Amino acid sequence: FDLRDADLKKLAELGQGNGGSVEKVEHVPTGTIMAKKIVLIDAKSSVRKQIVRELEIMHECRSEYIISCFGSYLAEPNICICMEFMDKGSFDGIYKQIGAIDIEAVSKVALSVLEGLTYLYDVHRIIHRDIKPSNILCNSEGAIKLIDFGVSGELINSIANTFVGTSIYMSPERIQGAEYSVKSDVWSLGITLVELALGRFPFSDSFSDDDNLSDLDEDRESPGWHNKTPTHRDSFAMNAKTAKRLSKRKSKGVSLNGGGMTMSIIELMHQIVREPAPRLTPEGRFPKEAEHFVDACLLKDPDERQTPKLLLTSAWMDMARASTFDLKAWTSTF
Ligand code: ADP
Ligand code: MG
Repeated sequence: FDLRDADLKKLAELGQGNGGSVEKVEHVPTGTIMAKKIVLIDAKSSVRKQIVRELEIMHECRSEYIISCFGSYLAEPNICICMEFMDKGSFDGIYKQIGAIDIEAVSKVALSVLEGLTYLYDVHRIIHRDIKPSNILCNSEGAIKLIDFGVSGELINSIANTFVGTSIYMSPERIQGAEYSVKSDVWSLGITLVELALGRFPFSDSFSDDDNLSDLDEDRESPGWHNKTPTHRDSFAMNAKTAKRLSKRKSKGVSLNGGGMTMSIIELMHQIVREPAPRLTPEGRFPKEAEHFVDACLLKDPDERQTPKLLLTSAWMDMARASTFDLKAWTSTF
């Protein structure tokens, strides 16, 4: 495909995220339906060209668990990424429409995400960095695929310089300034799975009024704060901005409201690091294997947390592979 704006007819708006927007389009010369992501990057033109070059790697990704890409191009000042259109949308939209998702379907999501992460890392040495329900898509064939993974170092830098898009799924070690690893993605997967199975973001209702910003100042004096890298403070600063953005767009994404009170990103970060990790509750509602799997994803110490590859051998993933749950039939119910 030789892609350019003039050949793409907009059919619908699919959604807006922190970094830009996504449209359903038709590539008129071939009649192909695509999803076009428009990213506005505040960077030099040379950097934008570099990003487009780096996005070429997306073409080489061939896995049934990874979205396929038709191509990327510069439409100054934007970067456009044209990819396979997934007609059932993302899992955040799905659970907001139908409520808590059947645990057998959730097990298939977990299996697909782990397969996708393992492929990206083993074959391309790519860490996803942005696992969350809106980056896991589904189509009416019953396929589940990942989008928005960290292929371009320059794109990651440009986005990091302007805002941190998705800190609410961030692992405790990442909040504390550690580098990303495949295990940070596993934490984000754990939060995502609890969110889908419960039908709500798992942090908001355990938030109490005592958790206020002044607690953060105490942290500054506590051992551990002093040897944090500047990245640590930077991430808090940027996340305060993200909090404002999020509160402005309440209609979409995660609700940060707990008990009628708005939970700021900083308070949430505090909770992620300090409080026990979310779990599949109440006890007995879900299979033991699912509870164990989620607990393993949400171990706070990344050294104890397993890699995606190892998690593929867990009992719950054996159940997911053996399950006769029909995803294709399931997608026809909404
Ligand atoms: P975010 O992931 O933060 O919600 P994005 O800009 O990445 O923001 O995506 C916005 C929305 O566009 C997503 O929630 C998803 O529902 C939709 N979307 C993205 N890519 C596709 C695609 N290939 N097919 C169908 N819908 C998509
Ligand atoms: Mg996205």
